[in-house]
Amino acid sequence: MDCPTPTPGEPMASSYDLTKSSGALEADEIIDTSCQFCNSNCRLKVHKKAGRIIEIRGEDKDPVQAGNLCVKGPM
Ligand code: SF4
Repeated sequence: MDCPTPTPGEPMASSYDLTKSSGALEADEIIDTSCQFCNSNCRLKVHKKAGRIIEIRGEDKDPVQAGNLCVKGPM
């Protein structure tokens, strides 16, 4: 993990991502489903932790989606 080492007396870089590699945001269940919003029916990966949805992503292995969704999908 490439975390910057804070220097005493200097502010942390604003680009530091506090959520990266956070155990609190690691899913304990990933459900495969599809978006029903339009006729594209994109594949969805619904990431859940302790029964709550923490992230919704597209299918990484899909050559068109490449893990992405339009703005409506995650809504
Ligand atoms: S993610 Fe967007 S493009 Fe894909 S099915 Fe849902 S609404 Fe349609």
